[in-house]
Order: sequence, then structure tokens, then C-alpha cells
Amino acid sequence: MALTGLDIFKLLPKKNCGECGVPTCLAFAMKLAAGQAEIDQCPYVTDETKEQLSEAAAPPIRTVEIGSGEKAVKIGGELVMYRHEKTFFNPALIALHLSDDMDKEKIDQRLEEFQKSRFERVGQVLEANMLAVEAKKGDLESFENLVKTVLPLKLPLMLIAPVDFLEKIISSVKNENPLLHAATSDNFEKMVSLAKENNLPLVVSGHSLDEVSDLTQKIKALGIKDMVIEVKTDSLSENLKNLVLIRRGAIEKKVSSLGYPVLTFAVSKDGDDWTELVSASIYIVKYGGIVVLSSLEAWKALPLFVLRQNIFTDPQRPLQVEQKVYTIGSPGSDSPFLVTVNFSLTYFIVSSEIEASKVPTWLGVVNTEGLSVLTAWSAGKLTPEKIARFVNEQSMSDKLNHRKIVIPGFVAQMKGSLEDELPGYEIIVGPREASEIPSFLKSWKV
Ligand code: SF4
Repeated sequence: MALTGLDIFKLLPKKNCGECGVPTCLAFAMKLAAGQAEIDQCPYVTDETKEQLSEAAAPPIRTVEIGSGEKAVKIGGELVMYRHEKTFFNPALIALHLSDDMDKEKIDQRLEEFQKSRFERVGQVLEANMLAVEAKKGDLESFENLVKTVLPLKLPLMLIAPVDFLEKIISSVKNENPLLHAATSDNFEKMVSLAKENNLPLVVSGHSLDEVSDLTQKIKALGIKDMVIEVKTDSLSENLKNLVLIRRGAIEKKVSSLGYPVLTFAVSKDGDDWTELVSASIYIVKYGGIVVLSSLEAWKALPLFVLRQNIFTDPQRPLQVEQKVYTIGSPGSDSPFLVTVNFSLTYFIVSSEIEASKVPTWLGVVNTEGLSVLTAWSAGKLTPEKIARFVNEQSMSDKLNHRKIVIPGFVAQMKGSLEDELPGYEIIVGPREASEIPSFLKSWKV
């Protein structure tokens, strides 16, 4: 069980010196319990108690890192049940499954899909994160060959194989910090030695919550901290139930033996891609730490990436771009000047339509705290005064020969007031829909 504020207080030096940034040890203890402070902020805590206290400062779900270098990824570290309570921090990893019983052509095709499944949306790159490499044939050489094929890609790996196979190849892969799959009730002592000797994260797998919870406690006692848990079932509804129980157990009930990210396989038993897509969607939304897929065709990958992006953005901070005048193409003094808001989705949609028009354009992006046009207008974040101030601050009169400003069609009602704020300027009401921007720009005349 995680320590409470009072438990922590009992372990602190009780000098009430304030050197930790808060006036008393009790206040510091409360901050530690809430995960808002670091133990090292108190210079008087002994190493002995630090170990005990680190548990209280840690998130209820352990953060586990897989892979090395630039492509290393983190999972877990979550603090809340529901995204709207705060935010979710570490997006579910999307992994592609490969096994050594696939022929070379199929493996190459899957890897090509993996490399191609990379999209840009609202300024963020959406992509798959890791490979789940499985020994299925039961022969070491085939598994070793598959591992050799994927190693040069430098991607985070999960290695699914019997412990004796893993022991034989570990020296060649350990620098990549792969996730080892899996410690079970039958083999956990050997798997723990392997993971411990090589300082690698470990999947703990069982057929029930009780079995997994029991195993994580035993494994933790043997010195392993970085675990990912898996509860094997054949049913989507059972999986969903377990995922919710694990999250609730870790976050609300403070059951530390369940406080680990969860591995899920969305692979459909009968090979049905739609079942796989639906399962993966559910696992992304409901607490999967890793979601393994059998393939990554664009029609399957893109909706999952977008869903994940939506779930793992901070609901209290809309995605936004910087307030400034963006140049699209190489606009000159006769080029159109459009004004919009700094909500990322709006910016990227508007700018891509301008690009599609091939008409060089000045795009003025006003800071509306990430709100879209109509929301910003109704919340008083997009006002004639604000636009006028922006136009003057950006010295648009030095950049333009003309005095024309195009505003979004949805705020046509501010045309008159904006003309009052910017004497000498003509305010033109632009399209309501971004898709109409290219034809609007093509008919632009100064
Ligand atoms: Fe207490 Fe340590 Fe903070 Fe001083 S620095 S008030 S001893 S917790």
C-alpha cells in the first residue's frame, strides 16, 4: 500500500526548517503523498528512509521504460481513473506482432507497413512504437534470425520466448532494453534472474488477477521493479473487465501489486481485422499500456492513432499553435491576409487548404487560448479589439500594399466593429468552411 501523508510525516526529520520549500515537515509530507514534491527536496532525509519514502512519491502505476536511445518509450505513470480528472500521461504503445513462423515475404511486408504507418495530425507525428517478436516454431535459430532482422531498426522490442531462448540471445539484445515476455507461476525465478542480471523490464503473466497480483509481489521481493502485467483471457469482455479492475485497484484502492502498466493483445483468434480493430480501440481507451496488433495497414492504424491522440491529450489544455503571422508560400505585398484562431486543429486545416490553393498567403493566427473560432468568439477570446491589436503589433501595414483583412465566415458579425477598430482597412468576410478557402483565394483581387 502507498504511504499516506501521516505515514510519511512520521519518517521525516521534523526540523520544520522550511528548506524543502514549504514551512513544515507536515506540509511537505502532504505534498509528497500527493505526488507534488520530490524527496530530495529535504536535505535531511537519510538514505534508509528515502527508499521507503520513494514509494509515496511514485505514481500509483509504475512508469516503465522500454527501448533505448531516441526511440525509447514510457508507459504507466498514470494518476487518475478518468482523463477529465487531470490528464493521462503516457500514451498506450501500439506494437506490431511478428513471429518466427512467418515467411520472409510476410515479415518484410509487415515491417514495411510499420515504417509507412506514420502520419502527421495537428502538428504531431502519429506512429506505431514497438515490435512484439515471438518464438512460435520452437526452434532457437528461427527466433534468433528474426531478432537479428529487427535489431537494426533500433525500435523498442518485446521478446516473447521461452526463458532458455531468451538466455541464449540476451547478450546481443540487452543494450536495446527490450521487454522480456514473460514471467509466469512456472518460470518466474529463472525469468527474474535473467531480467535482474541484465536490468531489463519484465512482463508478468497469469490467468487471473489474483495470480498476477501474487506474482508481482513475489517478483518485487526478488528485486524487480519494472514490470508490465498481463492477464490472459480469450474474451474481450473479460479483458475489459480486468483492465478496469486493475486500474481501479491501483488508483483508487492503492493495491500496489496491480500498480503496473498492462499488456494487451488485440490480435483476433479467427484473424478478423474488424474484431482486432474494435478490441484495440477498447484497450486504448480503457487502460491498455501496450496494444499488440497483427498488422498495421493504414485503414487500421490511422483511426487507432487518432483515437490514442485524443485520449492522451490534456483535456484542460487544448492543442494550440503560436500567435504570429505565418507565411504560406512566399506571400508578397499584394497577397491575401487571412486571420484565424490558434486552436491547432483549426490552424492545420486552414493552412493545408491555403497550401492546396497554391496562392501565397499571410495567415494571422490570434491567440484564443486554443479555442476554435465560434467558441473563442462566444467566450470573448476573439474580439475586434484583439484582432486590431494583433494586426497593429504585427505591423501588417508595412507588409501589405492593400488594406484588406479576411476574417472567418463564422464571425461575420464583427465586420463593422473591426472596421471601426482599424480605420482604413476593409474587412472581408471569408468562407465559413475551410474547404471553400481554395476557391475563395483563387478569386482574390487586390
Ligand atoms: Fe522538514 Fe526536511 Fe522540509 Fe526541513 S526540509 S521542513 S526537515 S521536510
